[in-house]
Amino acid sequence: MEKYQVLLYYNYVHMNDPEGYAKEHLAFCKELGLKGRILVAEEGINGTVSGTITATEAYMEAMHNDPRFANMPFKIDPADGHAFKKMHVRPRPELVTLRLDEDVNPLETTGNYLSPQAFYEAMQEEDTVVIDARNDYEYDLGHFRGAIRPDIHSFRELPEWIEENKEKFDGKRVLTYCTGGIRCEKFSGWLVKQGFEDVNQLHGGIATYSKDPQAKGQLWDGKMYVFDERISVPINQVEHVVVGKDYFDGKPCERYINCANPACNKQILCSEENEHKYLRGCTHECRVTERNLYVKEHELTEAEVKERLLQIEENQTDHAI
Ligand SMILES: [Zn+2]
Repeated sequence: MEKYQVLLYYNYVHMNDPEGYAKEHLAFCKELGLKGRILVAEEGINGTVSGTITATEAYMEAMHNDPRFANMPFKIDPADGHAFKKMHVRPRPELVTLRLDEDVNPLETTGNYLSPQAFYEAMQEEDTVVIDARNDYEYDLGHFRGAIRPDIHSFRELPEWIEENKEKFDGKRVLTYCTGGIRCEKFSGWLVKQGFEDVNQLHGGIATYSKDPQAKGQLWDGKMYVFDERISVPINQVEHVVVGKDYFDGKPCERYINCANPACNKQILCSEENEHKYLRGCTHECRVTERNLYVKEHELTEAEVKERLLQIEENQTDHAI
């Protein structure tokens, strides 16, 4: 059976006609048999695609033959199969949604790029703060040891959070990191514009750091959240410390699931045992809703649902939820 790969990449470069390019590019990706999600904007391209080794190699070669992407780095992960169900190429106003009043062009203003090894060393120095530029649910599954967790659910909330927490970073050397590096390109540029003096970003993101022969993913705890069907990937090649906590009982857990109430769909870390126990519902309302997908999938009778709910009630004295 042929092996698969997942490619993660971006490039800030001017694109004349994002709509036209997106259409052509979608046809090209489909022809190769790739699946994934690619965003095209006037400011560049950002994508994750999966495919066979033959298909992904052909894709990388074709991209490198385009002068706009001649030096674009690809982060490559081996995979058992496709990491997506479909192939999308979408034109967008921005590659990562920040919606700043005054946009940042990373080709003009951005933080210093640190190699994985330089980042590893810098993290351990004094008067240094490490800011995770990702969302709360990404941080909760895994992050650099000691990194600051901005209390945000989407990237565009990050500038406001920084403004409200400025005193945490005053006079400190600032390090930022994200999955593949693209969010930090803009975010670190924004920090520079805000007047932060010593702003540095992990070049190539966590995805590059994990494969670096020197850094070996060290000082990373937990796993890295990814936006495809794999949900998470390992990073630290030297040790594995679990930092994720089960939503229901707080025990170490690295398994993300979605609440079975389609109207909620909240992503929670949850053991298999607790998924069954709590009918995959994040609240009582989500458990008892007629639309609960867990109840449907398992064809539970009304009596069986009642029985589970009773067990949860009996347990309430032990747990807060
Ligand atoms: Zn819910």
